[in-house]
Amino acid sequence: MFKLIMQNLFHKPATRKYPFETRLTFERSRGHVIFNSENCIYCGLCARKCPADAIKVDRTNKTIELNTFRCIICSECITSCPKKSIILSNERIYPAKEKVIFKVSKNS
Ligand code: SF4
Ligand code: SF4
Repeated sequence: MFKLIMQNLFHKPATRKYPFETRLTFERSRGHVIFNSENCIYCGLCARKCPADAIKVDRTNKTIELNTFRCIICSECITSCPKKSIILSNERIYPAKEKVIFKVSKNS
């Protein structure tokens, strides 16, 4: 017991002072998905394959919406995209109080 107390007194804290000190991301961390509108043909395959119904593709207006609150970062959209227009970033996005929807279009 005494040994444990002494260890805890003189060791660095096991926790970080978040948000002032954030943990580095690992190379293969699952952060968030990013759409590249350059090659996208708005086929809608990513939306059909998404198990969380997080993607909405509008073929008429050529826009894609990603609801980050629904996304479970499973990478299914990335593997199903025929144009390789979606990539997985290892950077995490910050928690938010309100629903965050990323919208991409041919002009963005
Ligand atoms: S699957 Fe790829 S090409 Fe098709 S709409 Fe989604 S991002 Fe665009
Ligand atoms: S990573 Fe998975 S849950 Fe997120 S948008 Fe793609 S298919 Fe949907």
